[in-house]
Amino acid sequence: MKHLTKFAVAASLLCAAPAAAQTQTAFPASVESSIQSVLPRMIAWRRDFHEHPELSYEEVRTARVVAQHLRSLRMEVRTNVAQTGVVGVLRGARPGPVIALRADMDALPVTEEVDLPFASRVRATYNGQNVGVMHACGHDTHVAVLMAAAQVLAGRRNELAGTVIFVFQPSEEGAPPGGLGGARRMIAEDLFGDLEPEAIFGLHAWPIRSGAVSIASGPTMAGSDRLRITVHGSQTHGAQPHRGVDPIVVSSQIVNALQTIPSRQMDAVRSPVIVTIGSIHGGVRYNIIPDSVQMEGTIRYLNPETRDELYARIRRTAEEIAASAGARADISIEPNAIPVVNPAESTARARAALVRALGEENVLTDQPNMVAEDFAYFQQELPGVFFFYGVNAPGVETADAAPNHSPRFFVHEPAMETALRAMLAVALDRVAPSP
Ligand SMILES: [Zn+2]
Ligand SMILES: [Zn+2]
Repeated sequence: MKHLTKFAVAASLLCAAPAAAQTQTAFPASVESSIQSVLPRMIAWRRDFHEHPELSYEEVRTARVVAQHLRSLRMEVRTNVAQTGVVGVLRGARPGPVIALRADMDALPVTEEVDLPFASRVRATYNGQNVGVMHACGHDTHVAVLMAAAQVLAGRRNELAGTVIFVFQPSEEGAPPGGLGGARRMIAEDLFGDLEPEAIFGLHAWPIRSGAVSIASGPTMAGSDRLRITVHGSQTHGAQPHRGVDPIVVSSQIVNALQTIPSRQMDAVRSPVIVTIGSIHGGVRYNIIPDSVQMEGTIRYLNPETRDELYARIRRTAEEIAASAGARADISIEPNAIPVVNPAESTARARAALVRALGEENVLTDQPNMVAEDFAYFQQELPGVFFFYGVNAPGVETADAAPNHSPRFFVHEPAMETALRAMLAVALDRVAPSP
């Protein structure tokens, strides 16, 4: 994969002009002037978070900055929701619906390779290893954008018809072993209290054109589950395989056969599926057939209705291949995230608001992707719409941009203005007083 050149990074940083000289004029003049005045702060917040990234459930500093800001806007603020989460409630002066806007706050165990003045030099211990920590998924921008949206909306409090809940969520990047990820844990800790939002909105930095957003109804991001398979054979001499049961040969058959589930057993259009074995361990010496092999992998799927069938096929494939060799396969599947599915009606309404704010040419409809997002758990509770905003530096195509989670992941900062306008558009569509 080609990566962004230093030149492109520098050019993009120098370009202080807004992301897109686009038809961004849909807001009333008063909102427009608050947007303009918050932009420099938004960029400063983002750079600060970028330089000080924190791993999942360790977002202590980030949460403190967020809570301080929300309090300065005279919001009701709850902290330590799901350990490090922050929830702010903004009550408009007029009656109206309740809505929620969500940003995730955690960074990743990735060592930054982008040449930025505010690049992360933070290191931490993760899974017993000393690692670099980086906002390699753009959550720093999500937090800064939502803080900016909070400031703009709090400034309009006297005109707002309804209530806006700002949800700053910890630990999006996968649940800790045996625990809950941030979205599920916030829900378990009753983050909305007595309030009943009619909708929740979230966005994600994504390597598409800056100035554009992408939104689609239906399955948008994949369900993601962790697969563990242990193949139990019987240890023997490498020259006498018939005296034991070889779990390495059995594991090889299982790895290959698992690939026929997406390609031969599931409906390729209705139920796109990926089964990846990402780690396989067995054996200590070249001439010993070991007793067992451990494998781990990830299962991705878009159609929640076919998940149980998919699980059953994975189990059957592994168990019966092992049985045919006289081995045994123990299988465990641990759910990590369910698919993000955007409901048709709310998505159409959000899309219309985005088109009004950003112009038709800047509202794209992409194919779903097989990455996961735990925003899906909010969608289980209430209508939720999730969309993407483009972060590519000018002239960089998606194929050439470093993907999310790469040490070279890069956000063209002026694109954050588009994200802010998008958040304000979907929010004001619900809580702006009707003219
Ligand atoms: Zn991520
Ligand atoms: Zn992310």
